[in-house]
Amino acid sequence: MMPNFDFSVILTLLLSLMMNMNFCVNCGHKTTEKIPLGDQKVRKVCTTCGYIHYINPKVICGALVLWEDKVLLCRRAIEPRYGLWTLPAGYMELFETMEQGAARETREEAEAEVDIEQLYCMYNIPRIGQIYVLFKSQLIDGKFGAGEETIEARLFDEDEIPWSELAFPSVEHTLRHYFEDRKTNNFPMHLETLGTRLDHTG
Ligand code: ZN
Repeated sequence: MMPNFDFSVILTLLLSLMMNMNFCVNCGHKTTEKIPLGDQKVRKVCTTCGYIHYINPKVICGALVLWEDKVLLCRRAIEPRYGLWTLPAGYMELFETMEQGAARETREEAEAEVDIEQLYCMYNIPRIGQIYVLFKSQLIDGKFGAGEETIEARLFDEDEIPWSELAFPSVEHTLRHYFEDRKTNNFPMHLETLGTRLDHTG
């Protein structure tokens, strides 16, 4: 039996997203700004059903992809930072693990399959509400390409890294950690807080 599907719910959801949640994503009625009982921050709260619209940080998963002592970088074919080099990374999706997210982003952006080896770098970026999680990984068969969001993908030796053309601070930090750790073949997890630049989506 066909479910009784109300498309106005979707329309309302899209509208509320576009309008900064002035309408409830749950019932479509107007929201108001207030501090919910027991909370300490102002939230958009539905005037009809009471639904509280929390906004929480987003998780970005990515991979430091290695192959025969080289690192795989992708040149961005999208804004922001069009034309600059980055690690395959992107927003984590619902119903996937962080490792799956990192592998999926690598597949999408670099057309590459990877073995995820370990959690390697985590970056808090509180200023823009993001958490970066990067996994050290190995390219499986040496094959890669350029996905739709990528102009070109390339393997770099350490002395070829385009340091002045990296897209984000997280990319530079991760590469510097890797080449430093490689000297001792010891790869501890690095946790840092970044946040000197506004635009850090990826
Ligand atoms: Zn509501």
